Amino acid sequence: MSIVSETVISYLPAKRKTTPSGWISFNAPCCVHNGETQDTKQRGGLIENGDGVSYHCFNCGFKASWQPGRTLNYKMRKLLRFLNAPDDEINRLSLEVLRLTEGVETQQHSVKLPTFETVQFPDNTIEIAEDPCATGDYEAVLEYMRKRNLYLDDGYRYYWCNNPVYKQRLIVPFYYEGRLVGWTARIVESDRNPRYLMETQPGFVFGLDEQRPQKIFCIVSEGPIDAIHVEGVSIMGSEISEQQALLINRLNKDVIVVPDRDSKGRALVEQAIELGWQVSMPEWDADCKDISDCVDRHGRLYTLYSVVSAAESSPLKIKLRMKKWFG
Ligand SMILES: [Zn+2]
Repeated sequence: MSIVSETVISYLPAKRKTTPSGWISFNAPCCVHNGETQDTKQRGGLIENGDGVSYHCFNCGFKASWQPGRTLNYKMRKLLRFLNAPDDEINRLSLEVLRLTEGVETQQHSVKLPTFETVQFPDNTIEIAEDPCATGDYEAVLEYMRKRNLYLDDGYRYYWCNNPVYKQRLIVPFYYEGRLVGWTARIVESDRNPRYLMETQPGFVFGLDEQRPQKIFCIVSEGPIDAIHVEGVSIMGSEISEQQALLINRLNKDVIVVPDRDSKGRALVEQAIELGWQVSMPEWDADCKDISDCVDRHGRLYTLYSVVSAAESSPLKIKLRMKKWFG
């Protein structure tokens, strides 16, 4: 029996019975938190499968599960709270599980947490500030930010560099634990290449510093501007490296991947399923290809809401949804 099953079982109501197929049934603790009346017919069921454990409420439909190699997700923590487990006990268990997860990954693939060197911006780089007298390239960069719904007061920092390589680009800095470890510089004209000039380090995940402890979800997108719009993280492409997965898992949050609507996005969904992460493919207009497109059309608030409410954890449902999302 795993530490997770053991802990959950220790908080189950005393009044319970075990069926021949292995279900432990008891009055479900979830329903009153989900707008239903208190269960009195022992419709809450818990079953151990291997070292994992699943809970299913046959009254309000609440489900939660944990499998070895995964973090203790939001729903499992919620279940423990419903069962009146104290918060510090839940946190202790989360950390314990996390240590186990990291141990397993490290043993299997010898993946270590990446480290990132501090870097310096090129000469003549300045932080962008609103400037009504801005002219030329600087004005073009400000205009580009407005067009992409990026705001100077949105909690992120933006830079501009007055040298021939960078002056027509918006520089989005990469921070890790408060240190500058790289950047990406986006060309402001849509028809020019390369679109991005990137200074980065292996394993880097954009936006980790913004994933504060009180946040329940961590939204994973491909591009950094998508990540800014929903205060998520970006894997800087469409493939999750093992080091990136480690950095994201150790946040100990419900991870929701939002794939771009192209062939690379498909592979990203497969990876997300393997990692046990959720995937969100909301009911957006067919020409909304990524988070930024949706923000352009409907704004940040709607986009965030649609992403979170479409999050799906069942691999089967994710695969069904893929057909519509990718067309
Ligand atoms: Zn329930």
